[in-house]
Amino acid sequence: MRPEILNPLFAALTDLKGVGPQLAKPLARLGLERVVDILFHLPTGLVQRYPADRLDDAQVGQQIIVTLTAQDYRSGRSPRAPFGVEAFDSAGDHVRLVYFGRTAGLAKKLFPLGEPRQVSGRLDTYGEMRQIVHPDHVGEPGDPAIATSEAVYPLTEGLTNARLSQLVEIALERRPELAEWIDAPLLASRDWPAWREALTRAHASPHDAAARDRLAYDEIFASQVALMLIREGLRNRKGRAIVGDGRLTGALRLPFGLTGAQARVGREIAGDMAQDVPMLRMLQGDVGSGKTLVALRAMLAAVEAGTQAALLAPTEILARQHHATLQAMLAGLPVNIAILTGRDKGRGRESTLMGLADGSIDLLVGTHAIFQEAVRYRDLALVVVDEQHRFGVAQRLMLTDKAARPPHLLVMTATPIPRTLLLANHGEMDVSRLDEMPPGRTPVDTRVVSVDRLDEVVGGLERHLATGAQAYWVCPLVAESEASELAAAEGRAALLRERLGAARVGLVHGRMKGPDKDAVMARFQAGEIGVLVATTVIEVGVDVPAASLMIVEHAENFGLAQLHQLRGRVGRGTAKSVCLLLRSQNLSETARERLALMRETNDGFVIAEKDLELRGGGELLGLKQSGDADYGLATPEQLVRLLPVAHDDARLFVERDGGVEGPRGAAVRLCLYLFERDAAVPLLRSG
Ligand code: ADP
Ligand code: MG
Repeated sequence: MRPEILNPLFAALTDLKGVGPQLAKPLARLGLERVVDILFHLPTGLVQRYPADRLDDAQVGQQIIVTLTAQDYRSGRSPRAPFGVEAFDSAGDHVRLVYFGRTAGLAKKLFPLGEPRQVSGRLDTYGEMRQIVHPDHVGEPGDPAIATSEAVYPLTEGLTNARLSQLVEIALERRPELAEWIDAPLLASRDWPAWREALTRAHASPHDAAARDRLAYDEIFASQVALMLIREGLRNRKGRAIVGDGRLTGALRLPFGLTGAQARVGREIAGDMAQDVPMLRMLQGDVGSGKTLVALRAMLAAVEAGTQAALLAPTEILARQHHATLQAMLAGLPVNIAILTGRDKGRGRESTLMGLADGSIDLLVGTHAIFQEAVRYRDLALVVVDEQHRFGVAQRLMLTDKAARPPHLLVMTATPIPRTLLLANHGEMDVSRLDEMPPGRTPVDTRVVSVDRLDEVVGGLERHLATGAQAYWVCPLVAESEASELAAAEGRAALLRERLGAARVGLVHGRMKGPDKDAVMARFQAGEIGVLVATTVIEVGVDVPAASLMIVEHAENFGLAQLHQLRGRVGRGTAKSVCLLLRSQNLSETARERLALMRETNDGFVIAEKDLELRGGGELLGLKQSGDADYGLATPEQLVRLLPVAHDDARLFVERDGGVEGPRGAAVRLCLYLFERDAAVPLLRSG
């Protein structure tokens, strides 16, 4: 339960006076639903206003404060035309105050004829005439002066800066006095303000680095503490020691031997599983590095020990593909493998549930459905999670909460996560790396091509298909909406159908029903479709060796890690593979460098580290997309810089200061609740 002292901050914004459904809508668009969201919605800029005695002192384009008196109103011919207030300064010079969108009533109220008003806004001209469009503040001359400097917030339609600033005031008033949770010597050495003061300062100025760092630090620290508490909590619970006898892994008939990396990682995993402390391990390995086999061997060890194992895939398609692959590898072995997804219903589902409960099913592959309430395992000892970004800390907790003895957990990812972010989001895990590719692969040839050469690209695609090879065409990631993303993909598919013939082009997108999607995928896998147009990364997460051309449109809109993963979809067969990154004509310097990096290296880890470096403090988009970060406040730059400090402090807190039961406990607990990393709190108590 959240400590009472924080309740005022977690009230819904609609509970505030004057915030109705009309205002709630734009606020929600910005992710602002509770008072605390406003508190952490920090300004991105500052307006400076120039107080002018008269209009002649000010320049066009300047933000000014000036005293004006309305002499007349000017209605447009139609009610939709802008409404004007003809106003004059102390020297009698004219300016028109312009109001759009049926706001005549408001304008008349603000400017009674003949009465002076203090006005702020941007001075513009319209032809020969001076005007101010929608003055941002209007007050009585005697009122406290309009601020000469004001913070500017990220806004959306239907929400003005003035309105948001008022909400910020309210949120700031609601801040409780909280005990300091940062380690005292650290706080002193950094010259950071206390939490309350940091908020005041961060809202007053986006340039207050100390205040902003303090707040970002709080968020990172809360995250680190949560991860450590989870680890501690789990480490304090007894798991089950699993030692396979090798009778199943030894019987696997494979056309190849293990790579050195697969063998090494296999030993690391076996070593963990042999302990009665639950394993918490992440397996990192580029696309195609052979993670599936590593997972299978670990799962077979569990079966050898008389227990069950489950493999969680991010999507239906991948679950089915894993199931088929594993089933083929297990042919002839006495292992019973089943699949369970949201789409399995009725009799089939019932019998799978029974098989899991009575232990006749050894291995289960599926989507998140495998952890639903109704699913009971006889003895689940190992859970493998494949490429599941949304499998966040909360899910990890839920998983381990369910079993009396928490199962061993292996999380696999092909997303090359830089070290810093690994610590940031998976700091509680041990890490294994598959840093060696199976032999016989030719690196993918990557080229960056301007989108104005689309015609040539389609021509090249046509020749490519003529050789009997296949291709992927990934459509631009459109930020605004899923609908426009879909429209873009449909448009592209239509164009390709026109050029290449309808039968050779398939389309998969997020709005399609599972079976329809699978049908298209199956036809692509069978080679009946030449080019597969897709909207999202996940949908193409499949293994089709004959696909040796990957085309990504608007490549600059993707995170590098995503591009790298997309590229990994080709180069799986023996044919030489090509990846074409189509870019827009106008690219920023950073975007250029990022794409060039893709051309220069095939090493996912190099790409990940460099990407973080290139993005610096700016663009959070890529981080969000790749699912690496769960941070609302800290920028990537702050994350990189402050994380090591937060990590050390979190460790001090847990190991030296007695954790949530120690003297700093109460304060840190508040911080955890404030940043909603509270799921970790109960864990340590029970530990
Ligand atoms: P990942 O899941 O890491 O992207 P996969 O497990 O799907 O990679 O493996 C990619 C391909 O490499 C598969 O076709 C698999 O059969 C093959 N493979 C795995 N291990 C080896 C190996 N040691 N030698 C040769 N091929 C391998
Ligand atoms: Mg895989």
